[in-house]
Amino acid sequence: MMATFRKYLGAKLFLSYLLVIIAGGIALALTTKITVPTAFQRHLGMMEGTGEGGMMGMMNGTGENGTGLRRGQGSGFASDLYTNFQQSFSEALTWAALAAGAVALLLSVYLSQRVVRPVRAMMSASQRIAGGDYNERVQENGSDELGQLAHSFNQMASQLQQTEDMRRQLIGDVAHELRTPLTSIKGSMEGLIDGVIPASPETYQQIHQEAERLNRLVSDLQELSRVEAGAYELDLHPVEFGSLVKTVVKRLGRQFEDKNINLTLDVPDELPKIMADPDRIIQVLTNLLSNSLRYTHEKGDVTLGAYNEGTLLRIFVKDTGVGIPAEHLPHVFTRFYRVDKSRSRQAGGSGIGLTIAKFLIEAHGGEIWVESPGKDQGSTFIFTLPVSK
Ligand code: ADP
Repeated sequence: MMATFRKYLGAKLFLSYLLVIIAGGIALALTTKITVPTAFQRHLGMMEGTGEGGMMGMMNGTGENGTGLRRGQGSGFASDLYTNFQQSFSEALTWAALAAGAVALLLSVYLSQRVVRPVRAMMSASQRIAGGDYNERVQENGSDELGQLAHSFNQMASQLQQTEDMRRQLIGDVAHELRTPLTSIKGSMEGLIDGVIPASPETYQQIHQEAERLNRLVSDLQELSRVEAGAYELDLHPVEFGSLVKTVVKRLGRQFEDKNINLTLDVPDELPKIMADPDRIIQVLTNLLSNSLRYTHEKGDVTLGAYNEGTLLRIFVKDTGVGIPAEHLPHVFTRFYRVDKSRSRQAGGSGIGLTIAKFLIEAHGGEIWVESPGKDQGSTFIFTLPVSK
């Protein structure tokens, strides 16, 4: 019995209502027991005062003469009257208490149910969510604590659903990305085994390139999962943007020369320092310049520039390359999104670089976006960084 009460919230609520009813009943009984004789005496006294009869003090039902007034004459009647009054009063009180108790009991069952129902609904919904049904939602009624709890519960459920969708999508994307180079390696190896493909340095070179692509994809994925989970710390301090540019140009300058692409720097000396993690900004600049290099034809132009705009530094990488059609512009920062899939893959792109860049710039409190007049008309990637105070 007690175990039932301990186990169910409804039973506990019902028990608490029951205790309130019993306490109310006891208080009612005690108060009437104490107050009725005095009240009766007072009212009779008032009657006597108005000449209705001399019965004051005779109503104890004990036959005592109380105050002893006009003894004998009306004492029997008065005591009878009091006894009858007490009996009828007790009877009426018992019926009233029973009726009130019954109504209170019914109401307490109803009220306990009302409180318990949404809690039960949330409990079963959470069990279904735990079982993998992320579409589960509960009804949000009212704005009290239970209503707020239901609202938070639904928010949590949709957050879980989003995370689960992203996880599924990611696994699908990764499997797809891994399949292409693996299929190519497998095909070449089978060709070699069957003697269909010659065992030439070019064949091995091609297999090596695919393996290299796999390697790059895995490292990019590792980096993406780190930035997505926020599992890295930004070492923010005032940095001269010009020094970062020098590092990147030293790293990539040679590749620009090799592809005969003209790299112009438009970075004034008197720029204010930025508040940034130098390694991370170098990573973003390297990604943007590598993309320009990848998507710009020979003899094209790439400009890396920066200018101060109030509390921000605005940095841009502009190229005269293949450009991005308007319908693709909003998506290029999405994981694995490529405008021209075969071209990007051919060029060794994993479709993750810009996603990482966006995460990093936003973690610095900046913004990143792309502008392009259209296909074959070049593109400009722009990002902002806060100036150090
Ligand atoms: P990827 O490794 O494939 O280059 P990114 O995330 O760096 O991946 O870029 C995503 C896509 O955005 C690319 O596949 C390409 O289609 C497009 N893109 C990025 N940079 C440029 C650019 N400078 N010019 C034209 N298209 C670009």
